[in-house]
Amino acid sequence: MSKKSIKALFAFDGLLAKAFDGYVEREAQIEMAQAIEAAIDSETSICIEAGTGTGKTFAYLVPAIKAADDSDKKIIISTGTKNLQDQLYFRDLPSIFDALGIHKERALLKGRNNYLCRYRLEQNLDSGRFKSRSMADTLVKVKQWTNKTVSGDLTQCPDLNDNDPLWSYVTSTNENCLGADCPDYADCYLVKARQKAMEADLVVVNHHLLLADMVLKEDGFGELLPEADIVIADEAHQVAAIAHAFYGHRLTSRQVNELCRDAELEAMTTAKDDRQLSVAVRRVEGAVNEIRLKLGDSGKKINWLQLDIKVRNDLLLELLREMKALSKRLDLNATRSKGLDACHRRSVEILQSLVLFEDKDLAKDSVRWVETYRTGFAIVETPLDVSEAFAQSRLDHGAQTWVFTSATLSQARKFDHFKSQLGLDSANELMLESPFDYQNQSLLYVPRDLPDPRNPKYIESWFNKIFPLVETNKGGSFLLFTSYYALNKVRELIESKIESSKLMVQGERPKNELIEAFREQGDAVLLATSSFWEGVDVKGMALSLVVIDKLPFAAPDEPLIEAKVQSMRKQGKNPFYDLQIPEAITALKQGAGRLIRDQKDQGVLVLCDPRLVANNYGKEFLTSLPELPRTRSQKLVIEFLENLNQ
Ligand code: SF4
Repeated sequence: MSKKSIKALFAFDGLLAKAFDGYVEREAQIEMAQAIEAAIDSETSICIEAGTGTGKTFAYLVPAIKAADDSDKKIIISTGTKNLQDQLYFRDLPSIFDALGIHKERALLKGRNNYLCRYRLEQNLDSGRFKSRSMADTLVKVKQWTNKTVSGDLTQCPDLNDNDPLWSYVTSTNENCLGADCPDYADCYLVKARQKAMEADLVVVNHHLLLADMVLKEDGFGELLPEADIVIADEAHQVAAIAHAFYGHRLTSRQVNELCRDAELEAMTTAKDDRQLSVAVRRVEGAVNEIRLKLGDSGKKINWLQLDIKVRNDLLLELLREMKALSKRLDLNATRSKGLDACHRRSVEILQSLVLFEDKDLAKDSVRWVETYRTGFAIVETPLDVSEAFAQSRLDHGAQTWVFTSATLSQARKFDHFKSQLGLDSANELMLESPFDYQNQSLLYVPRDLPDPRNPKYIESWFNKIFPLVETNKGGSFLLFTSYYALNKVRELIESKIESSKLMVQGERPKNELIEAFREQGDAVLLATSSFWEGVDVKGMALSLVVIDKLPFAAPDEPLIEAKVQSMRKQGKNPFYDLQIPEAITALKQGAGRLIRDQKDQGVLVLCDPRLVANNYGKEFLTSLPELPRTRSQKLVIEFLENLNQ
């Protein structure tokens, strides 16, 4: 294989064509694969935007595997989600290795919260402390599953669904893992998965793990990933947002509560006589609950400086005082068991975080906020700009070639925003158009006469324009919203007008299940917000109408955006053009990309924001999308929908 050129491998009579039924030679795919091969040969980095349908997965896997075979290069492939990791590892990689006739060691590595922790499973089973009988039953089933699983990857455990509260009972965290001191270390699934990854030629990870490895997060196991020559980041538009989390600090009430729970569990077996330990645990839990109550509604992000001064003080001082008391008790008991020793270590780490947040002089180039959840909260601090840190981490990492690819890296055909966020100034660029025939497969409709989206009548007017299209569409309609407020309003308006079995709403079921039901139904109406703008791949008539409620600008009071905007203004930059528009374009491109998924797909994309036409910057959005024929006539759209092939 190694003697064959990329062009020959991808040719109509090449190895790939021989291996895959219905293989079609694609010019853009070959161009991408050749560009990656050139980057590997010249030890340079490249950013590649590959429109939907380019076949980018094969376009990066083939030159990477070829380099592993030709010159023993080690490769890390990083994706955006666990689903994509599984798809790559279990479906794409084996078929390409077979097609090319190559054998190389490969490994799949996920975050530690995906692997069953035998120690914590046993510890929780032994404790007998469950909130319900069904919790105990599920834990027993998870234990039985250990006889069948080799990987310990809990996403494959049929008895534990994604939202099960038991996840924290059967997985470990950086803080509570006992590492080499663990009695189950020799059989630990996570340890085995990491060892396999360290020995592999090609490892499939996700961006969180890649970043964790890059910033050398200390977690008791040393390095997470092996040294690599080539790093390929797919869905690379997500990397900057994830990097913010890794170059900052975060303390959550969950970390504190888990410490309390573990300390209590350990104390029940090895420190029963120290009643003060239980008292200290209760007091910390009490302080956490008090603070959560004071923070008010869930789902908020509150800038630290705008937080009530009393709440801020309570958050730090009260929690600090109670944590110090708990840490002292744990210190006194630390020699009684490895578990208690680990709990003491964790309490010291939490104290260090609290002291760090107590520092009044928040660095001027960072921002801090508090997030509230239904039963907890988090304090988050992150730098406003991660470009230098990321560039330094890349240097320290040592890989010679970095490939960043996605269908949405550019705005108005420029990579400037993406590259500046990650300090990729010297990386090469390549933009590849989608091979789809958008002129004949689709239509873009920008409705007339809608009020400004801030007008209170906007949603009602929007609905009057959109509902006739939904009614006409014989296939599935996907209504994407920029807020839950708009989604809920539309839900109220639409509920009485369509059969209940056809209406599907985000949150009713786990995302994957909902998408599967939408696909199977064929003519359903799915209402969803931001998390559905990406990763929904429904081909054919089951998704033939995509409606976007308005331009997806991030909320201006979102603390990170707000702080970046202020900082850019101080530097004399224009944050609207240099930040808010590029970010909104990326989100819009993702949402719009849900419509045409293959050569035969057809459908209508509706962008409902009068600013697209009324304001100059609307052009930036429109030139960033594939070239769909445009109309402002509802009549034409209805005719188009009526004529879609079923
Ligand atoms: S080493 Fe850590 S993850 Fe593995 S079983 Fe022990 S505590 Fe759990």
